[in-house]
Amino acid sequence: MVQMANVFSMRHFFVLSLALNVSFILRSVFEREQGLNWVGFESEKDQVTQRTRLSVSSSLSSITTLAEAQDSGERIINLDHGDPTMYEKYWQQMGDKTTVVIPGWQYMSYFSDISNICWFLEPEFAKQVVRLHKVVGNAVTDGRHIVVGTGSSQLYLAALFALSPSDASEPISVVSQAPYYSSYPSMTDCLKSGLYKWAGEAQNFSKEGPYIELVTSPNNPDGTARHSVVNRNKGILLHDLAYYWPQYTPISSPADHELMLFTVSKSTGHAGMRIGWAIVKDKEVAKRMTKFVELNTIGVSKDSQIRAAKVLKAVSDPYEHVDDSEVGETFFDFSYHSMAERWKLLREAVEHSGMFSLPKFPPAFCTFFNQVSEPRPAFAWLKCENDIEDCETFLRGHKILTRGGKHFGVGPMYVRVSMLDRDENFIRFVKRLSTIRV
Ligand code: PMP
Repeated sequence: MVQMANVFSMRHFFVLSLALNVSFILRSVFEREQGLNWVGFESEKDQVTQRTRLSVSSSLSSITTLAEAQDSGERIINLDHGDPTMYEKYWQQMGDKTTVVIPGWQYMSYFSDISNICWFLEPEFAKQVVRLHKVVGNAVTDGRHIVVGTGSSQLYLAALFALSPSDASEPISVVSQAPYYSSYPSMTDCLKSGLYKWAGEAQNFSKEGPYIELVTSPNNPDGTARHSVVNRNKGILLHDLAYYWPQYTPISSPADHELMLFTVSKSTGHAGMRIGWAIVKDKEVAKRMTKFVELNTIGVSKDSQIRAAKVLKAVSDPYEHVDDSEVGETFFDFSYHSMAERWKLLREAVEHSGMFSLPKFPPAFCTFFNQVSEPRPAFAWLKCENDIEDCETFLRGHKILTRGGKHFGVGPMYVRVSMLDRDENFIRFVKRLSTIRV
């Protein structure tokens, strides 16, 4: 009997949820067709709770009903990490296109291609990396060496190892312009290496002699396009291009730096695969990076490389019309539109609240989409206004978890907020943010 009642209520709940979903999608589509402000707040601010109406586009609404995103203000919204769960939905829609089955006897050897400097690099993965960069036009790969890593995090350490002089009397300084990616200082110094040492904010760096400058572009946390700032002749540059993909920023030209790091974590959203790659000009540097990975983990999971290759292939295929089957939305169309909608919602919430501010980004021409657009970073660099000194603590008071400015080498009035969480969490966040008042 109790079981019957449960089934009954579950069924009712399902029907109700479906009805809400359908009506919501229909309304969203209708408003779009009518050219209405479908991401809208009503104009009068004094009836916020009744009137706050966050409509979402079809890409958001199909899994997020208004009911699911109801927010009593009690639930903790954790946007501290840049976990790219937003992309799950796209890959679900792709069904079996990226399913990989590996028989027990396959990929048992340590080795992948002993003729390659990076002997544990799976040829199919290397092929799909090169292909995707050609499709997107975001990096030069001709005549370059590719080194695969367990995430670009491992390659960051491999690069420091490879770029540091091995015979120096003291560790080489590693600098980056603030606000910089919060993991750089701790990753650099965690083993107290005798080869390299974190030396902080690049703009204050005045020490003579060689140094390594990290250039992250677009930057984590603030989304700005970056160039080196120290500009002295003994500088060695390491470019972290984790976010140089068309959903986040206009692609201006193929990047052509000495050493560039990329990752599936932020390009396709597959952070759990732990796959990154480095594009390296100098053969000796590629050899030393390979040596580091060899000493560290004796290569990189072949299973993950094969899976990553399949995902990258699924991204590239529709752009090269390889796959005749029904593709649906292409990956970069989906991700571009999702990010654009999220930024629109966020900017409206910030404006409605009046307590915060966000950076403005200059529009630029994107060679991939063939149009002018504004950057849509993977993180929002939010500033608390109205004399709030510690933005992270302030938002924690509203049960919103973010990462405060001090982790990125700047003041506590800033926080970094992930823009890559699942629809439901993101919608709940913008709704709550919009109602925060002095
Ligand atoms: N570099 C930057 C700038 C990042 O934001 C991240 C992920 N947060 C990484 C590197 C590490 O990426 P992976 O998951 O490939 O180790």
